[in-house]
Amino acid sequence: MVKLDFVFVPSLINIDGVIEGLGIYSEEKLALDTLKKKITENWSMGYKEAQLVMWTLDSDDSEAVPLKHMYANTCPICDERTFWTDVVEMNALCYLPACQAWIESSDIQEKRVDCGWPPIGYTSHSDSIDGALESLRKYGARIRTSMIEDSDIFTHRTLLEEYEQSLKKESDDST
Ligand SMILES: [Zn+2]
Repeated sequence: MVKLDFVFVPSLINIDGVIEGLGIYSEEKLALDTLKKKITENWSMGYKEAQLVMWTLDSDDSEAVPLKHMYANTCPICDERTFWTDVVEMNALCYLPACQAWIESSDIQEKRVDCGWPPIGYTSHSDSIDGALESLRKYGARIRTSMIEDSDIFTHRTLLEEYEQSLKKESDDST
């Protein structure tokens, strides 16, 4: 039998502020998958906070090691409260399956934060989380306007091109 050294404990805080446990796991991946599945399947339930911690077995450590600590925010693209920001790894993902807007801090390059919106392959980068949020927000505002008129994905593509051109123009103007 393999000896267990660590256990992984995912949990959520629901809309009433009550902690909901999601079990105890021997593998980090299993625990994380369980947490992600729960958030994805219940994206409209108003969960506020999520955590994944690691406990060392047979130890008198009184503190668990935080692996993930996520807060639900309003998504800059789809405007739902499904944008989960992880303050441990400094990244974010929208758990609304049709949206999946994301922000990721680079491990390699300091001060580089990437962001994107998979449905049309939009990506951009910035030097801070706030900057990345801002560029998603700007882009999201245009998408929402277009959705009112037409939900055609081709409209989004055109918008993306227009948006990229406007960015180019902005940087041309500033130089
Ligand atoms: Zn979203």
